[in-house]
Amino acid sequence: MHKFLSARLGAASLLLAVCGPLSTSWAAPVRAPGPDFPQFASADALKAACDSSLVQANAQLRQVERRAANSQWLAAYDAFSANLEDLSNPMQFLSSVHPDKALRDASEACELRWNDFSSSLAQNEKLYRALRVFKPVDATDRLLQKTLLEGFADAGISLPPAERARAKQLNDRIAELGQTFQRNIRDANLQVAFTEAELRGVPVAVWQGAKRDADGRVLLGLDNPSYEPVVQFAESAAARERMWRAKTNEGGEANLKLLAEITQLRKAYASLQGAASWAEFVLRRRMAENPARAMAFLDEVKSAVRQRERTELEELRQAKAAHLMLAPEAVKLDRWDVSFYTERVRLERYAVDQEAFRAYFPPQASLQFALRLIERLMGVRYQRIDGVATWHPEVQTYAVSDATSGNALGTLWVDLYPREGKYNHAAVWGLRSGSLAQQRVSQAALVVNFSRQGLTLDELQTLLHELGHAVHNNLSATRRALQAGTSVKHDFVEAPSQMLEDWVLDKRVLKLFAEVCPACTPVPDALMDKAVAASHYGKGVRAARQHLYASYDLALYGPEPQDPLALWVQMEGDTPLGYVPGTVFPSRFSHIATNYSAGYYGYLWSLVVAMDLRTAFAADKLDARMGKRYRDLILANGSQRPPQALVHDFLGRDFNAKAFFDDLKR
Ligand SMILES: [Zn+2]
Repeated sequence: MHKFLSARLGAASLLLAVCGPLSTSWAAPVRAPGPDFPQFASADALKAACDSSLVQANAQLRQVERRAANSQWLAAYDAFSANLEDLSNPMQFLSSVHPDKALRDASEACELRWNDFSSSLAQNEKLYRALRVFKPVDATDRLLQKTLLEGFADAGISLPPAERARAKQLNDRIAELGQTFQRNIRDANLQVAFTEAELRGVPVAVWQGAKRDADGRVLLGLDNPSYEPVVQFAESAAARERMWRAKTNEGGEANLKLLAEITQLRKAYASLQGAASWAEFVLRRRMAENPARAMAFLDEVKSAVRQRERTELEELRQAKAAHLMLAPEAVKLDRWDVSFYTERVRLERYAVDQEAFRAYFPPQASLQFALRLIERLMGVRYQRIDGVATWHPEVQTYAVSDATSGNALGTLWVDLYPREGKYNHAAVWGLRSGSLAQQRVSQAALVVNFSRQGLTLDELQTLLHELGHAVHNNLSATRRALQAGTSVKHDFVEAPSQMLEDWVLDKRVLKLFAEVCPACTPVPDALMDKAVAASHYGKGVRAARQHLYASYDLALYGPEPQDPLALWVQMEGDTPLGYVPGTVFPSRFSHIATNYSAGYYGYLWSLVVAMDLRTAFAADKLDARMGKRYRDLILANGSQRPPQALVHDFLGRDFNAKAFFDDLKR
């Protein structure tokens, strides 16, 4: 029930302007809608709250079990599930964001106890029997009933008792190992030491205030505000290599072992269920339907980008030779060269420097710009509420409401900056699902790691991507909480986020900055023209990398038993730049250790849909009529209808891959 949507790998994630609050023309609510974020004074307090939440959950479960399977049964079950979200989600979320390690640990322990509750619930025979005889009144409830029955089947409800117990045991163990995998990355706090000379080329603002080691060397962490500038701009290949290796090996041998065990356990789980592989087991519930279809799609992507990738890599090699004043034959392009020379070629060819954007995109103004864009496009209002206690003093709280009616829709929390022990990528947690029947409002938490110096254009894109997940949660208007917003199929869930990414390349859209931050210097049109031209550069390398991640994930969870590292060495070894000995990339691939397993292809699959959705906004990215239509037909409907049907309603036709493949050629 815990919804967690992460950015794809490789998505990125100096002047500070003072910006006023968002202007609002309507009466201000006093507080954010929905329950306040719970506060825990200590790890012991969280543990006590966890005990009590499970007592309440069990008491409520007994009540639902006693209910007759009459026409009200599904509504009661939906209300019960919604209560479980409120009882458990904030406590579990804290493991990723709370500043106190003791509290994060207590949160993880609580998460394991809730996993145990949830995996038992998923095998509850009384609920299953009631659900089976329940008579839905319409297609919406019928689809929910079908989805829930599939959930029970997937949890092993129809297995003989011993195998059912084994299924639960496997589920609980996989969840525990996934948690450890993430903790190993989050709490490693790895730092890499550099001399000032080695950091030549890296913007001074990135490292000036950083801690130093005993030898006076600068210590930089692996979070995006440190990692990206080093691999993009450090003139020293040795410095780039050190940073790149540290990041690639982030999870270490421990995580490789965990991933191997997770892979085996998932294979065993699929076998229990009569599926040939974990990928087959997972994909039969997805838009793609089976691994063969997903792989055929990936093959099509591969053939579309293969030549482009080779051409780009050759250009980067030539750039390296010119930079080092060596003969091209004498130069080999290394993996830690790719970002660096991509930036150089971009700069030479298009005169675009990502760092130049930071001056125009201060973090707070960027957030307000992104919110204003959603306000303008989708007919909503965000109002900042000050003085709300959350999990960290810098977290911001926004009340989300409908601009026309003024009705409260939900709460958005935003956590912008990196800190020790915080989840170091970009993601949204849908903490609470809205429901019209329950008059229940939504709550989402958007977590990113931006530099206080401002955002690059790529990072602004990341912000819009994540906000796309948050609006999917906040603007949901389904009858049942179980069908709210981001409960859609996993290979569709990225589409609303990816759709919004290229709004940042539109000059008219960027003019909204002036509305929220009159003191900000507007980004010059000429710079944006160059950025748009440059945005296509590197597409071959990027798409090929996403293709590799997606193919690796499907192969790892395919029918043949696999050793994660051996498979990676072979698959990365088949790419033009090859495998780098001594690296253990799968150790940091937390997507596939957790909830994107056999699902990473979904980023590319959803992108097909996202690109097609964008065609409706081709003439005007601020078209409020179209935006409202999009909100009402796609976002508001959550999983009340299959994604293909929602997209068909919006576009007036079936979706197709034309826009996606045309774009790969641009
Ligand atoms: Zn995403």
